[in-house]
Amino acid sequence: MTAAETARPLMRDEEARLSALRRYDILDTPPDGAFDRVTALAAHVFGVPIALISLVDRDRIWFKSRHGLDASEIPRSPGLCASAILGTEPWIVTDATLDPRTLANPLVAGEFGLRFYTAIPLTTRDGYSLGTLCVIDTQPRAIAEHEIVALEHLAAIVMDEMELRLSARRAQRQLEEAKSDLVATLSHELRTPLSAVYGAAKTLLDERVAADDDTRGQLLDMLASETQRLAAIVNDIVAASQLESGAVEVVSEHVDPVRLASRAVEAAGLLLPANLQLRLEPAEGVPPAIEADPGRTRQVLDNLIENAIRYSPRGGVITVEVAPAADGVRFAVHDEGIGIPPPERDRIFEKFYRLDPAQHGGVGGAGLGLYISRLLARELGGRVDLEPRGSRGSTFVFWLPRAGR
Ligand code: ADP
Repeated sequence: MTAAETARPLMRDEEARLSALRRYDILDTPPDGAFDRVTALAAHVFGVPIALISLVDRDRIWFKSRHGLDASEIPRSPGLCASAILGTEPWIVTDATLDPRTLANPLVAGEFGLRFYTAIPLTTRDGYSLGTLCVIDTQPRAIAEHEIVALEHLAAIVMDEMELRLSARRAQRQLEEAKSDLVATLSHELRTPLSAVYGAAKTLLDERVAADDDTRGQLLDMLASETQRLAAIVNDIVAASQLESGAVEVVSEHVDPVRLASRAVEAAGLLLPANLQLRLEPAEGVPPAIEADPGRTRQVLDNLIENAIRYSPRGGVITVEVAPAADGVRFAVHDEGIGIPPPERDRIFEKFYRLDPAQHGGVGGAGLGLYISRLLARELGGRVDLEPRGSRGSTFVFWLPRAGR
């Protein structure tokens, strides 16, 4: 490929090059030790008075680092860097007074007296040359191949540093976005029960309502259930963040899987709406004991059973199966609810993800239950999945290894 051919894609779109430069958000930023060390090192290695990291803007050349030069920028037109970035190869001038590309340049002919100039274009991964790392002398001099290689390495360090800063800025931006998503979700989730609590409390304070025992009873019920819901949401948020930061301790004990599931079923049964049935179905051959954390295991099971209850229609039957499985035990919680449409099957395990609450008659939590269950199951060395089952409703499967994690 000739120099003209390599230059063509870079020349093709100066606007795109300029927007690539803007992407790095580096123009007019304060001096920076990492870049200054590179120019100081380049000047030292080459024994030249000036070394620069230049960035070619629309009509100026701005120096991110300038060893041996006072000016922070010069106009684009006499600058040699603007020519150097037309290609991706080193741009070498050993005696500028003899070189047809530079002899008439004011930096050469004028007071500055530039004679020697070698620049390595600073090229992005997508092929845009943003500027150069260059070394300058007022004496002509030759340059050896190994010196060019050294300068290329230093230019690569400059580019790596710029890419690193770009990634750090992107990560920071993503974090900010995630934070504001979280704040938006939290305020939405918490505000709904809070306004119900506030409304109920205000109404109770109203003397006309206070006289009516029935209404008082209903409002107090609502206060209790909404406060409980708020507490559950806050607990889930704390649990999720502990799991994410790895701050969850998991113990290992002998656990009888059937007994544990039967306790979970008994506990859920106490709060079961009268129109639902909940059954335990232990299979033959379940190991009498596995190594597991009983509390965490219960947490996952309780959550799956709670969901099954929450999303079951009137008259629905919920079954909790316990069966032996390869190297462990398999709990399955089956309900006869509306099920989960195939496109949503993976998404329901995402943080804060919920299906349209209108589909479930408006009931629902903060969309953290399955997210927490999946993280917890992983902590236990197991897995939680939604089983693709043809029949009505949904089946969530929770597998645990016999030997623990
Ligand atoms: P939530 O606290 O909203 O129940 P989860 O993470 O437990 O959050 O569940 C996420 C979403 O998955 C729920 O909002 C619901 O739409 C759906 N879902 C969970 N379990 C069931 C189920 N047994 N039947 C139908 N839909 C379910």
